[in-house]
Amino acid sequence: MTGTSQVHQTLETDREVADDDRRTFVLDETGFKEVPKRWRRFYRHWQGEGDSLGPNEVICPVCKVVIRSTREFRPGDRVYCMPCMSRMVVVRRDDGTLEAEVTY
Ligand SMILES: [Zn+2]
Repeated sequence: MTGTSQVHQTLETDREVADDDRRTFVLDETGFKEVPKRWRRFYRHWQGEGDSLGPNEVICPVCKVVIRSTREFRPGDRVYCMPCMSRMVVVRRDDGTLEAEVTY
């Protein structure tokens, strides 16, 4: 038994997806002054029309701040919004975009 032809289980739940296929991102200082300096790069203000979210960004539904991650977001990811202290989870909407939903 070499085990080389081990059947690959395809449990396609979000929890089972390996982390290592995620894209990673280098975050720049955003000048977001509402949180301590070391956390600033994880948040930025939504610029309104013309702005767009990266795969590593979601908008806080409570305070409308953009929350950023060093890795691509996936449904099921837990997110914390420091500016308004909301806890949320990333969900995928019908149109394929990611959105944060507040958890209580
Ligand atoms: Zn918030």
